[in-house]
Amino acid sequence: MKALVKAGSAPGLALEEVREPAVGAHDVLIRVQRTGICGTDLHIYEWDEWAQRTVPAPMVIGHEFVGEVVEVGAHVTDFGPGDVVSGEGHLVCGHCRNCLAGRRHLCAHTRGIGVDHPGAFAEYIVLPMTNIWRHADGIDRDVAAIFDPFGNATHAALSYPVLGEDVLITGAGPIGIIAAAVVRHAGARHVVITDVNGYRLDLARKMGVTTALDVRTASIANVQGELGMHEGFDVGLEMSGSPQALRDMVANMAHGGRIAILGIPTEDIALDWSQVVFNMLTIRGIYGREMYETWYAMTMMLQSGLDIGPVITHRASYEDYEDAFSIARSGHAGKVILDWTGG
Ligand code: NAD
Ligand code: ZN
Repeated sequence: MKALVKAGSAPGLALEEVREPAVGAHDVLIRVQRTGICGTDLHIYEWDEWAQRTVPAPMVIGHEFVGEVVEVGAHVTDFGPGDVVSGEGHLVCGHCRNCLAGRRHLCAHTRGIGVDHPGAFAEYIVLPMTNIWRHADGIDRDVAAIFDPFGNATHAALSYPVLGEDVLITGAGPIGIIAAAVVRHAGARHVVITDVNGYRLDLARKMGVTTALDVRTASIANVQGELGMHEGFDVGLEMSGSPQALRDMVANMAHGGRIAILGIPTEDIALDWSQVVFNMLTIRGIYGREMYETWYAMTMMLQSGLDIGPVITHRASYEDYEDAFSIARSGHAGKVILDWTGG
């Protein structure tokens, strides 16, 4: 089969012919239809320090996908040929304290598909049946392809109640923009999103935020005044990984405000912790998705009118992956989808 492979210890990817994965007794074989390009894939492409440390090359990369089941192992009874499915990208150990307690998203030994386990940028992928999510009828196929980052956004956005609350989101990447749509859907009052990229701020405006703010030229404190806010934001979602964004957020929270951090910092972040203490802030980290409560919530929100379609801005055949990766890297894109059915 064709697959996008990190072939060796150097930047770039290769479109190669690789052996189809074997289907074990508890596994599901999926014909991949569409995949989403994630920031993680860009790091692996560029072969930065994190990728060198984490990815054992050669490796089929990619983890955001939708496809159709073609074969199941002898012990699989819940899925069958023709099911439209995505895969939960975190493979959990099943044996640690959290796994045993049913809190699989808190597994201490998670592996990632397309990172340190063969991934989805391929014509076929095999996953354990415990990692399969069957889509409800009527879910748009491109949206189904990005349930993984949609799930990151949802897990973070719904980690605190937002009904009637004022929400600050730092970072208008695909995940920040989807999170904005989710908190809007969940009843937030003002949704302010920040970035330093005009293209992405425009995209956020299309998704119905109250204010999309370019922090190079405007301040979050001023926006609070313009919106008639007096006490700061109730909920903050950090989705940029930028140290300055987190500092801006902490400085603009209401007393008792609650922050979820999804953005992955690329360096240590110095913070005025006295603001956290005196303003009695709660800060929590968010990784991945809850299995499978987040997947359920995404489906229910789509069925009750949430539309995240506009965040998908580009589509390409897998054969044009170089162009697709460079568009994704440029920052002048939301989500970029690769189609694996042509070729
Ligand atoms: P992205 O890199 O496409 O978006 C980040 C955005 O932040 C960019 O548009 C960038 O311009 C903006 N930004 C940079 N500096 C800023 C500043 N000072 N203030 C406001 N915005 C600023 O990433 P994404 O795919 O949308 O993902 C968002 C973040 O979440 C990334 O850091 C990613 O690594 C991380 N992530 C975490 C998980 C998890 O499970 N925790 C999963 C996926 C992605
Ligand atoms: Zn575990």
